[in-house]
Amino acid sequence: MMAQQELRCTSCGRAVPAPGATQFLCPNCAEVTIGRCARCRDQSVVYHCPKCGFEGP
Ligand SMILES: [Zn+2]
Ligand SMILES: [Zn+2]
Repeated sequence: MMAQQELRCTSCGRAVPAPGATQFLCPNCAEVTIGRCARCRDQSVVYHCPKCGFEGP
């Protein structure tokens, strides 16, 4: 089992399994991949960029 790269939900810190989850580069610094699990996405939980501190819904 070689996962390509473990992605974690930036909001709740859980590992993000593919279905329903999303990922995107930080819109502010574009250097960090933000991960969001389906649940946090559904609830529009705020995320924080660990690099630049950007917050977004
Ligand atoms: Zn989450
Ligand atoms: Zn950032």
